[in-house]
Formats: sequence, structure tokens, C-alpha cells
Amino acid sequence: MANEIGKRYECVECGALYLVVKRGGGTIECHGVPAVQQAAKQLPSSD
Ligand SMILES: [Zn+2]
Repeated sequence: MANEIGKRYECVECGALYLVVKRGGGTIECHGVPAVQQAAKQLPSSD
């Protein structure tokens, strides 16, 4: 599955978060471990 801009991924090994900023067909990996996609959620409005 191609990565989509704005999707968030998290490494289950170290907890690193990745935000997809460009389209690509590759799997996001952290030190060789595929990162898992996080559920989309709204950013809280900052005020
Ligand atoms: Zn990691």
C-alpha cells in the first residue's frame, strides 16, 4: 500500500513517530522494523 500524505506511523519497538510528508510506495521502517499506521485523529485547536 502506498503511503499517503498526513498518515502517521509509529514504531512499536521504540515508539518513534513518523508523519508521511510525501507520497511513496515504500514501507516506513525504523531500524528495520516496519512502523504501524496510527488512526487518524484531529489535531487539537491551539489557542
Ligand atoms: Zn524504532
